[in-house]
Amino acid sequence: MAHYGLVFVVLAAILVGLAAGKAWERYKLVEGRWIDRRRIRQSPHFILGLNHLVAGQVDLSIEELEKAAALDPSAFELHLVLGNLYREKGQVGRAVQEHQSLLQRPRLNRVEHTNVLLCLGLDYRRGGFVDRAVEAFAEVLKLDPENETALINMEKLQEDQHQWQEAYVTRRRLARIAGPPDQPKSQLILAFLETELGLQALKEGRVSDAVRRFEAAIDLDPGVMPAYLHLGDAHAQQGDLPAAIATWERSIERQPDRAYLVLDRLEHGYSTMGSGQRFEDLCQRLIAASPREWRARAALARHLVNRGQTGTALELLFEALEHNPHALAIHQSIWAALSALDLPRHLVARYVEITRQSVFYLDPHVCVRCRYRSTELIWQCPHCHEWNTFVEERITPATDTEAEIPAGLAR
Ligand SMILES: [Zn+2]
Repeated sequence: MAHYGLVFVVLAAILVGLAAGKAWERYKLVEGRWIDRRRIRQSPHFILGLNHLVAGQVDLSIEELEKAAALDPSAFELHLVLGNLYREKGQVGRAVQEHQSLLQRPRLNRVEHTNVLLCLGLDYRRGGFVDRAVEAFAEVLKLDPENETALINMEKLQEDQHQWQEAYVTRRRLARIAGPPDQPKSQLILAFLETELGLQALKEGRVSDAVRRFEAAIDLDPGVMPAYLHLGDAHAQQGDLPAAIATWERSIERQPDRAYLVLDRLEHGYSTMGSGQRFEDLCQRLIAASPREWRARAALARHLVNRGQTGTALELLFEALEHNPHALAIHQSIWAALSALDLPRHLVARYVEITRQSVFYLDPHVCVRCRYRSTELIWQCPHCHEWNTFVEERITPATDTEAEIPAGLAR
């Protein structure tokens, strides 16, 4: 009997323990008041707040979550999220206040501490407080060296400040953490960062250092166009024009659609070497390979005008215009050529006929990630800060339905 009695006592103790545990979990002493933590989850405000959040109605979500938070001022995650919502709304001051008060709570565990610091870093970055943001992310990385969000934000802050070497180190850390699936993206970013380091070296007159950097960039990702441009420039500065020309030609083999970036350089290089015909041949090859290539036509036309072949040049420009009626550079060349020929009536009439159906717009380059528009090609998007995301959108007359706009950009 005594035996059964003992079992009973042990069971009861376990049950009481469980109940006490539940109670401990459910009720919490806050500033001398017992608060039922379950009330937050059961109050309509919490659920309504989540619903609004899912529907993207941030204002309404904030309103409800503030009410829910008032029921339990100690609810950690709720205040963390509220702070983040204030930041999303652009109320950086309130976000910082919310997160800083969380940071001052006693007995934060390591994960909580890390999360609050991360959110504070994001607040500071959003508010443009660069030094404080850097400090916060550095703190996060002390607590959690593999925190990808902190590393990515750190990298962007370093890039913004042109601290290319620091950004490079950060990207290397990120690449190590992310492993093979992320490798192509990291290689591309590292290649652009190497290119920036090369440009810095070039500015400071360390030409052979620059050459090494640009070559390293091309090794990392052979598709990084600016590395070829500036590597050629560095070779030219070293007095090695054949090497410069070979580098620029290599870039065309790699990315024929961006050949226009090196055409001026090559024209000058060829003519310095006394072989102007090579430029004509190159442009003709590019035109034959891609019939819609307007920049090669425009460049060749300019080249021909300089050699007195204005009539042939004008034909090329008309062809170029049919493919790209928006390109102001072509119009300007045509105006110059027509004026040089003393405005012959039949050519002027042809020009008017071609342009009648044209659509003009001024900023044809667009970021495929965030759709930021720009008049010129940019390597790093000033809006979303991604590398190599710009493509050229083309608008052609309605009769020309050939799809040249990348699928993702079709309107
Ligand atoms: Zn962008």
